[in-house]
Amino acid sequence: MRIYDIILKKRNGLELSKEEIDFFVKGYTDGSIADYQASALIMASFINGLNNRETVDLTMSMAKSGDEIDLSCFGDLTVDKHSTGGVGDKTTLIVAPIVASLGCKVAKMSGRGLGHTGGTVDKLESIPEYKTSLDADDFMSQVDKIGVSVIGQTGNLAPADKKIYALRDVTATVDNISLITSSIMSKKIAAGSKNILLDVKVGSGAFMKTIEDAEVLANKMVEIGNSCGRKTAAVITNMDIPLGSAVGNVLEVAEAVEVLSGKTKNDLYLVCVELATVMVSLVKGIDKSNAKDLVEKAISSGAALDKMKEWILYQGGEKGFIDNIQNNIKAKNVIPLYSESEGYIAKMNTEQIGMVSLMLGAGRIKKDDSIDHNAGIIINKKTGDFVKKGDLLCTFFSNKNDETNCNAIKEYISALSFSNQQPQKLPIIYKTIF
Ligand code: URA
Repeated sequence: MRIYDIILKKRNGLELSKEEIDFFVKGYTDGSIADYQASALIMASFINGLNNRETVDLTMSMAKSGDEIDLSCFGDLTVDKHSTGGVGDKTTLIVAPIVASLGCKVAKMSGRGLGHTGGTVDKLESIPEYKTSLDADDFMSQVDKIGVSVIGQTGNLAPADKKIYALRDVTATVDNISLITSSIMSKKIAAGSKNILLDVKVGSGAFMKTIEDAEVLANKMVEIGNSCGRKTAAVITNMDIPLGSAVGNVLEVAEAVEVLSGKTKNDLYLVCVELATVMVSLVKGIDKSNAKDLVEKAISSGAALDKMKEWILYQGGEKGFIDNIQNNIKAKNVIPLYSESEGYIAKMNTEQIGMVSLMLGAGRIKKDDSIDHNAGIIINKKTGDFVKKGDLLCTFFSNKNDETNCNAIKEYISALSFSNQQPQKLPIIYKTIF
């Protein structure tokens, strides 16, 4: 087989066989196929498309290109979740203990934040002593004993995707539904769970900017996940507004505790109940209304919050930190921001708000940048709220100097649009796809 012939075939709009796709993935991963040939094949695939069979083969080939986590000892009880990324998205911190308290097994590897979006590992590292890296035996034993462990990415999962994604990033070939689907699903499949829930975010703070695009991606990922032998579902959720009120690491852990305690029933609560409901429904094979009852009871009974505390403690997190979290937010500058405008908040540029949080120190621009776990924003007024002059818009938590804080304030204000008209209320959850 020659890569030249495979490129020619796709350039001419023909369907590639499984063997040809495997040949490309293997050859590119081991370095025997050059970047320029891989780029040509990816561009030809972008332009002429990959059908479902080719997408399944590409997904499985990339999933098998490196380590695969074997969770088969947990049978069909394992469930993973993937979010396409957003601002204030702390859903894993809430959903994982809910579903674990109901008998599901969550053996999860999560990522760090980059750019305007946050990452679960950074949020967990705001808890002193929490270990985001465990050896394989400890990881498996924790999942076995208490039903949940969340660690940073270890091993060499889907190295083919890593290489291909880096190439797509610099050759204008990221935004293709089949390529995105195979990239995301290959990593989830290598991570080993039998059930997969995808939280596809849509809006100004998300990768997918329109509901139509989000729906196409969600449908495709569900179809491909199921064809790859994993029970897969997707929920399309709103990211035109930051999720919940906290943006920034320890602030988001505190909000997660608040939601799990049942004290807050905001947009974040609603999204988490939906995500957990679908996960429980996938694992137990029960309908959504029964699963939702279980999820709501797990929160109202305190079982989910107890599970979170058990999980954090088991993974080394400082004893008592969660119980006293509101007093554990350590920022030198706590800056309330009052409105100088009056009217409805018609829009929030959510990506820009994520960037303000980054300016305060909560995020990173480059992969190796360090972050300030205590920095961030608590948002008091969101899209649709009426604001009077002098009302509290938000509070900044910052250890930066005055100049940076002032620039962040200007940036935050410019992310808000005011109107005399009450804006149309957008749904929090657009659609759930099984
Ligand atoms: N995220 C991924 O992991 N892969 C893509 O292709 C796009 C977004």
